[in-house]
Amino acid sequence: MNEILDPFKISQKQLSDACKLANYDNDIYNALSEPERFVEIKITMKMDDGKINTFKGFRSQYNSARGPMKGGIRWHPDESASLVKALSAWMTWKTACVDIPLGGAKGGIICDPRAMSNRELETLARSYIRQLADFIGPNIDVPAPDVYTNPQIMAWMQDEYEKIVRRHAPSVITGKPLPLGGSAGRSIATAKGGVYCIREAARDIGLDLNGATAAIQGYGNAGSWAAKLLKDEYGCNIIAVSDSKGGIYNKNGIDPFAAAEFKEKTRTVVGLKETNQISNEELLELECDILVPAALENQITRENVNNINCKILAELANGPTTPEADENLFKNGILVIPDFLCNAGGVTVSYFEMVQGYYRYFWTEKEVFEALDRVMTRAYRSTVEQAKKYKTHNRMGAYIISLERVIDAMRLRGWL
Ligand code: NAD
Repeated sequence: MNEILDPFKISQKQLSDACKLANYDNDIYNALSEPERFVEIKITMKMDDGKINTFKGFRSQYNSARGPMKGGIRWHPDESASLVKALSAWMTWKTACVDIPLGGAKGGIICDPRAMSNRELETLARSYIRQLADFIGPNIDVPAPDVYTNPQIMAWMQDEYEKIVRRHAPSVITGKPLPLGGSAGRSIATAKGGVYCIREAARDIGLDLNGATAAIQGYGNAGSWAAKLLKDEYGCNIIAVSDSKGGIYNKNGIDPFAAAEFKEKTRTVVGLKETNQISNEELLELECDILVPAALENQITRENVNNINCKILAELANGPTTPEADENLFKNGILVIPDFLCNAGGVTVSYFEMVQGYYRYFWTEKEVFEALDRVMTRAYRSTVEQAKKYKTHNRMGAYIISLERVIDAMRLRGWL
């Protein structure tokens, strides 16, 4: 049988497995296995060269039982309805897993922002919000940045929304630049939260992070900050990093700051001095203590899972591991920090940004990270505890906690 690689089908399979493990019946599965609302839009705009382009966009609003829905906006050529739905499901489990009072959503546009000018990006951002303004809002659904979107794009989106509603509404979006109501620490938050989990996991298996080897796939916001924090704060040896153009390796260590600067100048890490080029596939199979997929989904599958040679697999990316691969990682004794726990630092600080926006009082970076550490450590500990209780892997442990919280909120509202 072919392995399931469709992201939404994967998210449904995970949900179904978790429902079975925790003894929820089919009615509960049915109530949770599709988004509450899925909006598909079309954006037509004039490009700089005069050509007319039409883009397809989406917003999937998965579950609102625990609070306003929350989720990023991806701009990527491979974006799809299935992926956006899956990511909105994972956002629902994520906000529940770290126990912040939000639901789950996700958005996207099929496009290649790397080939677009600033004016084109701004037009696309504003058009997306004009199409979706009736469906989002500070108490309805709050977008944020994700793959290939950034604080500047959030600023244009915030401005467009505020023009439509004719009042300030900074909490309509998070990941904003600081002068527009962003939170200190937001740009590092996803990596920071993942690194708190890695610290806890290392403690559990008795791994000394000082000198521990780490390989990181994807050198964008999440991956590059993870590399810098692992090196700077814990003394890890970053032996390999990669991006969409390929990877680089040096067993004696890569300076993550030099790699980021090099990528800033050349748009890739490939070619950094004193490194050898490797492929993304080779990077995943390197012998190392910590492997961090921080790029796209379906990277660890039945094809390569038995070649994964790390002690801790910290999933900063969403959906990097298929359900089949999960079972093998568990059998092979690899400690997995599952995606919607590992990368929950971003949405947690987004929540802090919403809170700060509501009362217009802003915290220091130190306060943000102390609060984040508490949230992530608590979520990591309860995930591991549930996994042990159910004799399952950490992803199912995390699902069981999240399901209980979402179902509880739905029951209290009388939806179930
Ligand atoms: P980004 O756009 O900043 O960076 C993405 C990186 O992945 C880039 O370096 C790109 O070159 C690389 N990449 C793209 N295709 C690749 C491929 N085929 N092989 C290897 N590398 C490839 O995105 P990001 O915000 O860092 O997000 C990365 C992952 O982390 C995504 O799965 C995203 O959903 C997840 N995530 C991000 C956040 C956040 O706050 N940034 C929060 C939660 C989850």
